[in-house]
Amino acid sequence: MRVINLSQKEIPRKWYNLLADLPWDLPAVLHPATNEPVSEDDLAPVFARELIRQEFTKERWIEIPEPVLEVYGSWRPTPLRRALALEKALNTPARIYFKDESVSPTGSHKPNTAVAQAYYNRREGVKRITTETGAGQWGSAMAFASSKFDLECRVFMVRVSYEQKPYRKVMMRIWGADVVPSPSKETNSGRKILEADPNSPGSLGIAISEAVESAVQDPDTRYVLGSVLNHVLLHQSIIGLELEKQLAMIGEKPDVMIGCVGGGSNFGGFVYPFIPKKLHGEEIEFIAVEPKACPTLTEGQYRYDFGDTAGLTPLLKMFTLGYDFVPSPIHAGGLRYHGMAPVVSLLVEKGIVTPRAYGQDEVFESAVMFAKAEGIVPAPESAHAVKCAIDEAIACREEGREKVIVFALSGHGLFDLSAYERFLNGEL
Ligand SMILES: *Cc1c(COP(=O)(O)O)cnc(C)c1O
Repeated sequence: MRVINLSQKEIPRKWYNLLADLPWDLPAVLHPATNEPVSEDDLAPVFARELIRQEFTKERWIEIPEPVLEVYGSWRPTPLRRALALEKALNTPARIYFKDESVSPTGSHKPNTAVAQAYYNRREGVKRITTETGAGQWGSAMAFASSKFDLECRVFMVRVSYEQKPYRKVMMRIWGADVVPSPSKETNSGRKILEADPNSPGSLGIAISEAVESAVQDPDTRYVLGSVLNHVLLHQSIIGLELEKQLAMIGEKPDVMIGCVGGGSNFGGFVYPFIPKKLHGEEIEFIAVEPKACPTLTEGQYRYDFGDTAGLTPLLKMFTLGYDFVPSPIHAGGLRYHGMAPVVSLLVEKGIVTPRAYGQDEVFESAVMFAKAEGIVPAPESAHAVKCAIDEAIACREEGREKVIVFALSGHGLFDLSAYERFLNGEL
């Protein structure tokens, strides 16, 4: 079978929480002022209550609310596809499958959590959402989700992207969001940066500081985050849960599972249901792929660090390059984060997940090969997983082994064509 589809009745009705089944405790989240573990009350001015509860719970299954399922139903279940043409092009005995999250309204996996977060905020009477976005993937997911639940949405967008990537901004405005270039004059953190450098290009860390600051100032406003945190990975488990059913339908078991990692949410959600199988002795290799320009897992340290640049957020134990790390402006904007989800970090530390890093040119080369074979133009982020899958398939050819390789295609690259143009012109 080339496309493995579930029926709409088969959309999972519960998210899976891996924290219930890990033999280790996740290190506590620490308050930046006291270095003591944070309480749920400490976080209440920032996040919706239910999301804070989900952040710390060890409940194994969490019911997906009906209104969230209804929105999921407009694009889920997503297809599992066999990359037959790519297999042929590589002349490999491996069977390559990919879970295609590019079919969502915004073209990536991000609405899986955006819709849930918008729903809970609305249910708790929140009127306005603030968040940040780099290239615009998360901002557009949150703009879409907010429009579904009648929330106002204000997105602080890193100024260089605001100026250089106009189309995601337009998308956000179509769904009714207010897009503000960051640093802005609307917050203390923004004004401080602008005083020092009126032409500051901005950064994701600065935009986070602005979005958090403007949320805590208003009792009707809350902040939302698109990756890294436990509740985000929980919502993304819908990817892995569907995949489990799809693989069972065709009687396949994965030997290698591959995903790209920025903050770790698409990879986390993709592998969550499969991690306990490995803990119980099944042989599955999990590979988390990152850019060499932002080598959090392959070269960072496992220690406590801030989530933002201003040092305002709680301290998370994670792999980090340091909260003041500024990666070079590669085109995989979603993979330019200094830290990594604490769960993914722990799995790497314990040797369950293996990290790997690739350079930008080899990633785009693989992306073009994949697009020629399968017809889908991958997001530059997702292309990191594509590159790794191709390498694994070539190794299978060389060793004469018939592995089942499954990777997550986290999104399409149709808003990243200027990056592809530069690659094709030899200008990267
Ligand atoms: C945001 C994004 C990523 C990186 O985020 P994770 O939380 O690591 O998944 C990867 N791929 C796409 C298409 C994205 O939009």
